[in-house]
Amino acid sequence: MTPREIVALLDRVATIDGRIDRQLNDASSAERVVTRWTTALADVPATLPAGSWDVGRVVRNYYERRGGDNSAQYHPVEPYDILTAWARHRDALMQRHTDPTPAADPDDVPAFLTEMRTTRTAVATGRAAPIEYRALTSGPHPAIEARLRAIGSCIPSPARAELARYRPVRAVREAAVAAGQPDPLNVRCDWCQAPEGRPCRSRRVRPDGSVRSNARRATPHPSRVELATAQHGGEAAA
Ligand SMILES: [Zn+2]
Repeated sequence: MTPREIVALLDRVATIDGRIDRQLNDASSAERVVTRWTTALADVPATLPAGSWDVGRVVRNYYERRGGDNSAQYHPVEPYDILTAWARHRDALMQRHTDPTPAADPDDVPAFLTEMRTTRTAVATGRAAPIEYRALTSGPHPAIEARLRAIGSCIPSPARAELARYRPVRAVREAAVAAGQPDPLNVRCDWCQAPEGRPCRSRRVRPDGSVRSNARRATPHPSRVELATAQHGGEAAA
C-alpha cells in the first residue's frame, strides 16, 4: 500500500475507532502512525481485482467481530491484524495457483525457473490472479458434441480411416452402418456362438473333436449377416 492509500485507510478507521482518530489529530503522533503503517504494509495491496481482497473490509471485519463482545477490552486495529489477514488470503491464492508451464524454453533452465518464480511472486503479492485448472462445467466442447451426433464417435473421420487397418472387425461394422446395412454384430451368431457385440471366430477342430484354433474373423459368418438382415428388415417394416 502506498502512503496515500494508508492515509485513506486510517481516515476510515478513525471514523470507527476514536483512539485512532485522536492519534491522527495529534500532530506529534500522526506522522509517526502513518510511517509505521506504511512500512509495515508496503507489501500488502489495498485491493485486488474481482473484489477478492479489500483492506477496508478487513478493518471493518476486525471491528465487527469485536463489536458483539462488550466485555472484552480490545486494542485499536494494528498493522499486524492486516498482515495476518493478508497472509491467510495469500495462502488461499497460492493454494489455487497451479504453476502453469512457463513459455520459456525448458532447456534454458534459468529462464524457465525465473518465469515460474515471477508468476508465483506476482500471485503471492496480489499483482496477478492465480491461474487455476479450468473445470468442466457444461459437458464436451460443442465441436466434439456435433461430431458425436454426426458419426457416433469422437475420433475424426480421417483418423478412423487410418485406424481401420488395425481394427478390421470394427471397420467392417462401421462400413455396414455407414452404408445403411444392418450391423451383423448386433445379433448373436448361431454358427460360432459369438455373443452380441463380439466378432465371429473361426474354430478349427481336430478329427478327435478338440479345438485346434479359435481365431477372430474380420467378417462375420454369412448366417449371422442373414439373421441381422432379417431383423433389420423387420425393424424397418415395423
Ligand atoms: Zn459366427
